[in-house]
Amino acid sequence: MTIAAPPTLNASGASRAIEVLGDAWVLRILRTSFRGERRFSDYMRALGVSRAVLSERLERMCHDLLLEKVEHLGGHPEYRLTDRGLDLWGVLIAMWQWERHWGTGVDDQAPVHDRPRSRLVHLGCGKAIDPVYACGHCREPVTPFDTFAAVSIEAVPADADAASRSARKRYRKSRSDDRGSLPTLMRAYGDRWNSALIAAALQGKRTFSELSEATGIWPAPLSDRLEELQAMGLMRAKSYAGSRQEYRLTRAAIATYPITVELLQWGDRWLWENRPPMRITHRTCGHALHAHWLCPECGEALSRTSVKIE
Ligand SMILES: [Zn+2]
Ligand SMILES: [Zn+2]
Repeated sequence: MTIAAPPTLNASGASRAIEVLGDAWVLRILRTSFRGERRFSDYMRALGVSRAVLSERLERMCHDLLLEKVEHLGGHPEYRLTDRGLDLWGVLIAMWQWERHWGTGVDDQAPVHDRPRSRLVHLGCGKAIDPVYACGHCREPVTPFDTFAAVSIEAVPADADAASRSARKRYRKSRSDDRGSLPTLMRAYGDRWNSALIAAALQGKRTFSELSEATGIWPAPLSDRLEELQAMGLMRAKSYAGSRQEYRLTRAAIATYPITVELLQWGDRWLWENRPPMRITHRTCGHALHAHWLCPECGEALSRTSVKIE
């Protein structure tokens, strides 16, 4: 059975990608690894993280096959990005871009290169760029409004919800000062109902009853989630005469789209072994969406080794 729906992480079971990545420290460690740091003491210095937190996260990242621990005789072990970890570069670019435009930039703990002021340089042409997220077939920019997804329900494993529940629990345990930017997104996507609401809003559902009908969420948890999404800055409520109230996604929420698609594409490659439970179609050209990043200056497609965040 397939149903038409806008892309949401949980519909695809890519909540497993969130399960792996929905943690602020894991993301910071990943970014640090991409800059070439490999040793425990290097991460400690770069991130100002406690020994206990760092060793727990490194162990988890090795278990999730993002990093590989390489022992050296008589020396310090190194943590190297695996192919699966390296393949996250597109997700990191999407997150970097979102933070640059929408992040609060108040995370003083973050290393300089993690702050929104950092620059993305395309080594191909040497320019600092704001990359364009485009369809690999027609090269037109991709937005949530010109794509649709077909979800194969049978392909979504029964444990997909359990994964999102534990991601949410994990988020709750994270430090409160992490709630400024990326973990906020992760929380939104890591929760099945939040992501269903975002999907319904992308389909144009706006009132309480339309959202309730589209998602099947009961009134009490629905108002709870709507409040949560507003507190996260992802939804806005607007009142009209006659007490009609509408909920709309903010531009910041709509701008999370490339992160969603990058996570889905990564999940397709590494978690589903190329049998993804969901196919996204680009309406503009009618082809299956394989989105990628383009340099707006020289038009080249970006690759992991042709970009640098500095
Ligand atoms: Zn296209
Ligand atoms: Zn370029």
